Amino acid sequence: MNFIPVNEPLLNGNEKKYLCECIDTGWISSEGPFVKEFEQKLSASVHRKYGVAVSNGTAALEVAVQALGIGEGDEVIMPTFTIISCAMAVTKAGAIPVLVDSDTHTWNMNAEEVEARITSKTKAIMVVHLYGLPVDMDKILALAKKYHLKVIEDAAEMHGQTYKGKPCGSFGDISTFSFYPNKHITTGEGGMVVTDDENLAERCRMLRNLCFKKDVRYVHDEISDNYRFTNLQAAVGIAQLERLETFVKRKRDMGRYYTEALKGVRGLQLPIVRTEDAENIYWVYGLLLDKDIPADNRTVQRLLAEEGVGARTFFWCMHEQPVYQKQGLFQNESYPNAEYLARKGFYIPSGLALTQEQMEHVVCKVRKVMTQLG
Ligand SMILES: *Cc1c(COP(=O)(O)O)cnc(C)c1O
Repeated sequence: MNFIPVNEPLLNGNEKKYLCECIDTGWISSEGPFVKEFEQKLSASVHRKYGVAVSNGTAALEVAVQALGIGEGDEVIMPTFTIISCAMAVTKAGAIPVLVDSDTHTWNMNAEEVEARITSKTKAIMVVHLYGLPVDMDKILALAKKYHLKVIEDAAEMHGQTYKGKPCGSFGDISTFSFYPNKHITTGEGGMVVTDDENLAERCRMLRNLCFKKDVRYVHDEISDNYRFTNLQAAVGIAQLERLETFVKRKRDMGRYYTEALKGVRGLQLPIVRTEDAENIYWVYGLLLDKDIPADNRTVQRLLAEEGVGARTFFWCMHEQPVYQKQGLFQNESYPNAEYLARKGFYIPSGLALTQEQMEHVVCKVRKVMTQLG
């Protein structure tokens, strides 16, 4: 069997048809009609009033942070175990990420630790739902209310997921999505900010487009980046969104298969199937090595690659990032659960184009590698 990549997207719906419409009509820029249609459809799907499509999920976070007016000296509470995009959105705005450790079961930020990190400088909580299960939102929202904090919800990995029956992407002041090819919905590259606040949405539209003023173009009171999203991306996005339910079902079926097939493999912790609040949607199928396995996730990634199976290690903690250490951030901080996840967690092929035959092959190779590691 050929090498099995860690992710391959599925593009066999109306993607080609809508893309051809772009070519045929000449609408390929961010001014094309699919952009607004996609913004409307995606924001409506998570019960939000406004959607502002941007060039990627990282840009969505930057725009969200800046739209909320977070800046110099402000503190934003977030998990240490996440993608750099989260911390970067905050540090680029001149604000300071304040970190919390992970929950060992869900791998999400531990909502119980947030309150102790709140100071007079805290402006917002950045919630990041990771790997397929949502953060305990009730706790976060109660704290935000009590201390008058903004909530930014990074729902990049949560297309189609709910928390207590409500869609992820509908919580807090502003939520962000990514459409990178390993997310449940892809546009190649892409992202979106969604909110119910008209003024915030308008700020986001300005921030994605160089801060052009509405009345006098080319005269700037402020500047920002160019984070525009093209009609071509929106064409793919609309076609993908049409099949979100099928995609979520497929991901859950894949999760169920892997869990059944890998149950009882010595030294491996499988992702939990559900919490009280949600059923896992397996953004990717993550695995965790037990403490007594004398190897880290990089070794497993290498061994699986030698067997023709693509795997990826989990995120690396923000407090251990060399770039932030050099800037003097997070000195002497330690978050043991997150550090464990970063060293022992990895995920196996779980893209939507994966076949049953490929999954069986992956299981066989994971078992083989785990036996080797004893
Ligand atoms: C993928 C991802 C992002 C970044 O999205 P890009 O589109 O790759 O910039 C941000 N946050 C989380 C949790 C992600 O998984």
